[in-house]
Amino acid sequence: KQFERLELKPFLIEALKRQRFERPTEIQERLIPGIKNGQSAIGQSQTGSGKTLAYLLPVLNRINPGQSTLQAIITAPTRELADQIHQEVEKLLTEQPEEGAITSKTAVGGTDRKRMISKMRNTPHLLVGTPGRIKDLVEEQAIDVHTAHMLVVDEADQMWDMGFIEDVDYVAARMQEELQMLVFSATIPESLQPFLKKYMSNPKFVQV
Ligand code: AMP
Repeated sequence: KQFERLELKPFLIEALKRQRFERPTEIQERLIPGIKNGQSAIGQSQTGSGKTLAYLLPVLNRINPGQSTLQAIITAPTRELADQIHQEVEKLLTEQPEEGAITSKTAVGGTDRKRMISKMRNTPHLLVGTPGRIKDLVEEQAIDVHTAHMLVVDEADQMWDMGFIEDVDYVAARMQEELQMLVFSATIPESLQPFLKKYMSNPKFVQV
């Protein structure tokens, strides 16, 4: 089964070809159609399953480049992971038409705060970062998250352990009410349930 069957925008298919990815992994196959249509989802999977592309492809597919507003936020527990995700995003954006291209920026802790705030003056369509720094940007009114309607929480179990779910919650509560939330985690601890229930009514659940 080829990526073509998932009916993604041509620039994404081109970027996959360029990286020599031939067919979707199981989690990609099972999650992309629903996420592409706006469904919230929980993916229980390990690193190596292809979970990153399982959310990046449909999220990028749903971003409307004609609208110059923040539309999606991706959160990860560490700056290393956030940077890695952002690199994946960049690779998927290489084949875009120049006119009306999707823009993406990172916001991670441990970097110069003032520079980060001024960097946000041109609102990206997609923001990838760590929860504390993104919350900080919202508090400083450096970014306007109320237009954003897609939120990814990667490695949610680690987020919980590190006490970051509160920060994710702070951001989520200020996004669009009709929120599409995508949660990825190796385990789904009971302690995460209140957060999941608060933002997802009928998520698609996939375990690989
Ligand atoms: P992840 O589980 O998202 O950390 O991905 C693990 C690795 O698999 C990454 O290096 C990806 O670049 C690679 N990968 C993801 N999807 C595919 C695919 N459909 N075909 C081949 N490699 C893939």
